[in-house]
Amino acid sequence: MPGSTRLFVPAPLRPGAEIAPSPAQVHHLGAVLRLKPGARIAVFNGADGEWQARIAMLARGEGRLAVEEQRRPQEPEPDLWLAFALLKRDATDLVAEKATELGVSALFPVLTARTQASQVNLARLAAIAQGAAEQSERLSLPAIHPPRTLARLLAEWPPERRLVAAVERAGAPPIAAGTGGAPAGLLVGPEGGFTPAELDVLARHPFVTLAGLGPRILRAETAAIVGLALLSALASTA
Ligand code: SAM
Repeated sequence: MPGSTRLFVPAPLRPGAEIAPSPAQVHHLGAVLRLKPGARIAVFNGADGEWQARIAMLARGEGRLAVEEQRRPQEPEPDLWLAFALLKRDATDLVAEKATELGVSALFPVLTARTQASQVNLARLAAIAQGAAEQSERLSLPAIHPPRTLARLLAEWPPERRLVAAVERAGAPPIAAGTGGAPAGLLVGPEGGFTPAELDVLARHPFVTLAGLGPRILRAETAAIVGLALLSALASTA
């Protein structure tokens, strides 16, 4: 049986395939986990399920994995998206990691009137999401989209997909009241909240449901985690 080590490898997986792990993965396997040739790990690529692989070679910063047999067939992730106003770096990293653990299939960083950050390192977010997918036994990575304004997010949002906008102090009904488990996305605002004008724009879109997350004012990253957990629970019981 493979141990608990799982690696995402962007290569086709089939019996007998040979894979070269990335330099970071070689370092992780050899220097951090101290695994030796012959050890079994699990690999996945987002398309072919999870496979057992044997470390065939690990030396001088290079490695080779021999793919053996499939352990899990590919399964779809929950159809849940997260749009979130860009936060400071650590909070954005946390949102990417937790959203991946919670099964989000697409992440949309958003620029709003009160957003404090305007740039995000997408490669860094992708690496964080990959680590979270490996750890949480996901079979795929979330898509990570470049930042876009709130106006563009709304203009490009598929109208058949509900967008649950988390808003505090607006008397909005609790999140469970407005979704019914259909394909959905969660929208979380910046630390300063949405402006009144943005709330008006949101309320005018028929696919948007304004929803509350309880009486306390949560930090944006907490709101993202709580909102995703609630939407996931709702989808699994619908
Ligand atoms: N600065 C705002 C204030 O004090 O009124 C709070 C903004 S909050 C820190 C950041 C974001 O988290 C909000 O835009 C909203 O999307 C979400 N949020 C926080 N608490 C919430 C709640 N109780 N219900 C719904 N959304 C909430």
